[in-house]
Amino acid sequence: MPSRKTNQHRVIRIGNINSRPGTKISGYLNVADKAASSIALPVTIVQGQSSGPTLVVIAGEHGCEYCGIMAAVRLIGSITPEKIKGTLIVVPLANPPAFEERTLFVNPIDAVNLYASYPGSLAGTVSHMMAHEIFSQIAKKADFLVHLHGGDYNEALVPFNYYAHTGNRSVDSMSRKLASCFPVDYVLEAVMAREASSGSPKGTSYAATGAGTLYGEASLKQIPSTMCESGGEGKVEEKFVQIHYDGIMNVMRLIGMLTGVPGLREKQTKLSSPVLVSNRKAGLFNPFVKIGEKVKKGQPIGEILNFQGQVLETLRTPISGMVVDRINFAAADSYPTQKQPYLFYIAKTE
Ligand SMILES: [Zn+2]
Repeated sequence: MPSRKTNQHRVIRIGNINSRPGTKISGYLNVADKAASSIALPVTIVQGQSSGPTLVVIAGEHGCEYCGIMAAVRLIGSITPEKIKGTLIVVPLANPPAFEERTLFVNPIDAVNLYASYPGSLAGTVSHMMAHEIFSQIAKKADFLVHLHGGDYNEALVPFNYYAHTGNRSVDSMSRKLASCFPVDYVLEAVMAREASSGSPKGTSYAATGAGTLYGEASLKQIPSTMCESGGEGKVEEKFVQIHYDGIMNVMRLIGMLTGVPGLREKQTKLSSPVLVSNRKAGLFNPFVKIGEKVKKGQPIGEILNFQGQVLETLRTPISGMVVDRINFAAADSYPTQKQPYLFYIAKTE
């Protein structure tokens, strides 16, 4: 696998880390300064002795998505310079404020979703500054990028991988191959449109589009990338941690960082035309379907009750497909919020 950024004969600098061939060094990258303290991301660089590609792994943009964070930490613990060719750069926690405050989806300082803030800007609020530093100081060093997510604290989902459709065939096909490294049954090729028809409710930044995401914007910079969604509901569950971890190990085999044959999933089902189903009435949300369930267009999938026991609204799926993702909070506002931008995420299964 040809490498565009052969870093082996020079020092790699990120934050307070100066890495050299044959070393494994951990440190911090300051991404923004508060009045009396700094927001610093933990970073580890593992540099093999021999030349090879640079893989960047980033987890923890959403502070309660613990399975990806755990897998990244496990990766840091298990990979040594002797084992690899090339360079592995791991950020196990991209959003320390959200992790510390146990905040759903957003950075608690500015209520902005870091997930959708790339490539970032130093002229923005703190999340835009963080995105700018992550993108310019870390992501741009990558030949390949792996981005780890999952359901947030209130969210259960079927594990799947995203990759972006940028129109650059060689980048897109490599991104697709990276996605097939993950032991998941489903993949979704995300469009890069800012205003996807299936996108986020107005006023929220959740969307089934790759625009503004780390894997999407990196792909536009010709860095093949994939994002794994595995785990959720604020839990550390071994089977979901393992999906992230095994996927990364397979990526490292595929791109020649590790020896061995990658265990690619040749038969992954493509998810398409994702839609977000929201409620209009406020009250108590009672779901009828679980994640992974197949549903038919028009089928009732949940209801909103008032506190007198009456049904105020019946939610129906606008398409036939599979329930990929479901919100678990029973409290339902009459408007979408960053904490609860939708109730169901449903996609067609080809
Ligand atoms: Zn997430």
